[in-house]
Amino acid sequence: MDFRSLDVTAANVISVYPKVQQVLDGKIPAPEVAEFFITNYCSFCCPHCRCAKTHEGQNSFINLNLFKKVIDELDAIGCKTIEFGGGGEPLEHPDILKILHYIKEKDLRCGIITNGYAMIDNHPLIDAILSVADWIRISLDAVSDETYQYVHGRKDLLYLLLKSTLMSLVQKAPLFGSPTTRTRLGLKLIIQQSNRNELEKALYEAQEIGADYLQFKWLENHSFAIPQNERIQIDNLKEWLKTKSDEKIFIDFLAGYGGDADGNADQPCLLSVLHPLIDWDGKVYICAFFHHRKDSHCLGDISIQSFEEIWNSIEHKKKIESVKRNQCVPNCPIKRYNPVVDFIKQEGYRFHYI
Ligand code: SF4
Ligand code: SF4
Repeated sequence: MDFRSLDVTAANVISVYPKVQQVLDGKIPAPEVAEFFITNYCSFCCPHCRCAKTHEGQNSFINLNLFKKVIDELDAIGCKTIEFGGGGEPLEHPDILKILHYIKEKDLRCGIITNGYAMIDNHPLIDAILSVADWIRISLDAVSDETYQYVHGRKDLLYLLLKSTLMSLVQKAPLFGSPTTRTRLGLKLIIQQSNRNELEKALYEAQEIGADYLQFKWLENHSFAIPQNERIQIDNLKEWLKTKSDEKIFIDFLAGYGGDADGNADQPCLLSVLHPLIDWDGKVYICAFFHHRKDSHCLGDISIQSFEEIWNSIEHKKKIESVKRNQCVPNCPIKRYNPVVDFIKQEGYRFHYI
């Protein structure tokens, strides 16, 4: 392949190439990032939610002491980056301030995927995020009150309130970091029937808010998904949006999880070991796409074992080797790194000779 065609995500993998070489040698290095679903609870009711079936009540939050214990263990083995996703809505965790402060205290960094609504009128939370997050990505999905309420399943929600909160987050960000280390803001829209007419407006809104990037992803395998034969119009819009975008904002169009075609279906999963998932109840999974195969994907439980014990067990390797590829999500984002792994395999020997 032409390695010069690798996209910007290649940088993520190349920056950890010694670990990639360990993986290629059949070893299991320490994770580069640990993703946490610190809760399965979410205050939104999005009909398109991939995790809706697993949402539980307001008791399904990771215990703060357990969280601290595993953070200490991750830190000790050199995993310095944490990602919060869902699962549920991470900013709804009752101890979210303590959690973010602990990450800061340990001198770790994090990325946060959130609906962002808990930040409204909550300056202590915004400040805690800005002091420790490399990025925060908002699951926006709409840029008008009416569509926002529909797509998130609650009539009392107000997009405009969230918008002004995000604008104030952007204004404050430089106070917490240098131009290169300040928290970056991303906005994401899952393209579906109800928001198909707001994609162009989303770019203008993102520019007004001051976001760093705008992401679009197709909703797939859902009654709200846009049929394939109606997508051509939006496909044309992609190029137009890119021409309208200024240098301050990046626009990404990503394949959805699903659809008929997955060009990567036969490829092995090489890099899930750099990005395991820890669920709110302490269970550790091979990756974030475990809900339909909890037993085969579960590596252990941090409430009864140490992370290192789980990570270095013989079982870990066996479980990874026995992942059934036909049960993986189509267009899994981890597999998009495989061409970069090939690049490292071929060219890694000369990386230090600048
Ligand atoms: S905000 Fe996210 S986690 Fe919550 S219901 Fe919507 S899609 Fe699911
Ligand atoms: S879904 Fe499959 S391919 Fe994707 S990270 Fe998980 S195990 Fe790997």
